Amino acid sequence: MLGLTMKKAMGELALIERIRSGGLSAGALERGAGVVLGIGDDCAILRPPRGHEVLVTTDFTLEGRHFRRDWHPPESVGHRALARGLSDLAAMGARPLAAFLSLALPGEMLATRAGRGWVDRFFAGLRGLAEQYGVPLAGGDTAESADGLVLADIVLVGSAPAGRALRRGGGRVGDALYVTGELGGAAAELAEMERRGGKRQPTLSDKAGKDGPPGSVGVHPQMFPRPRVAVGLALLRRRLATAAIDLSDGLSTDLAHLCRESGVGADVQLDALPIHPLAAHATPERAVGLALHGGEDYELLFAAPSTVRMPRSVAGVRIMRIGELVRGGAIVVVDSAGRRRPLKPGGWEHFAGKH
Ligand SMILES: [Mg+2]
Repeated sequence: MLGLTMKKAMGELALIERIRSGGLSAGALERGAGVVLGIGDDCAILRPPRGHEVLVTTDFTLEGRHFRRDWHPPESVGHRALARGLSDLAAMGARPLAAFLSLALPGEMLATRAGRGWVDRFFAGLRGLAEQYGVPLAGGDTAESADGLVLADIVLVGSAPAGRALRRGGGRVGDALYVTGELGGAAAELAEMERRGGKRQPTLSDKAGKDGPPGSVGVHPQMFPRPRVAVGLALLRRRLATAAIDLSDGLSTDLAHLCRESGVGADVQLDALPIHPLAAHATPERAVGLALHGGEDYELLFAAPSTVRMPRSVAGVRIMRIGELVRGGAIVVVDSAGRRRPLKPGGWEHFAGKH
């Protein structure tokens, strides 16, 4: 009996009702310009703008690996799930068309008021970011997870003018290397959350402080990262980038991806790294480590020919030149004294092996 009730509660209708009752698909969100048919049929129907190609990305958000329920408030988990996908679209210069969410929840979660409250707050966080970026949630699925863990998979569909999406492989020897915003903030905030043992659980009212102008520094870079969708669109439209990637795993790891795909190496100037104020509290060495290896900043790393006059900011977000692409495959950091040492990929390992 309980199993049957639970199954019903976990059914597709439950997700649809929860989304609709939360207003997620109401009004403008349901009528995203690219969504011909959204939630309620067997498939969604999307229509990209004329002359555009369709881009698709999928990202897991797994409890214990990408978030901890005792550290991350539910709003943050929903926000970050969507932010991961939006950041991938941003990295390609794509415009979001629609999001799809598959969510597996522990059975006991929907059986308790506290559990249902968690799910509502998860959706509130996701909805807040979806509204901010005008992304309709055009479909999804729910299931009961077998192991008591929350598992979410988000699919983002976007579009870009045919043949023009920013790829990792477009970098050339001599291109200058740039990053948006500040680095190391997300890892610094996570370290602080770990230190506090998750005692402080910020709510949406905390989130209000993060939004500010687009160029302002995020107050909660770990819990409420801001995917650089507008920057990606502007880089593509203004032909300011030859290659791009989003910084999900950390600069050292993501730069290695860009270099491998472009068939080049890179010199990175340590002094030029824009360090997030949360990371800057640490010792200089640790601050640089957080900026190089701390992941989940969701800033963009991109290359542009040195002849391009790069604006100081794009779409209101500060742009910093941090180095250049060079011949060969070596990635090297250069300090203020001109000393060079190889940069080994050491991206964020999430919680793997730590807990
Ligand atoms: Mg990515």
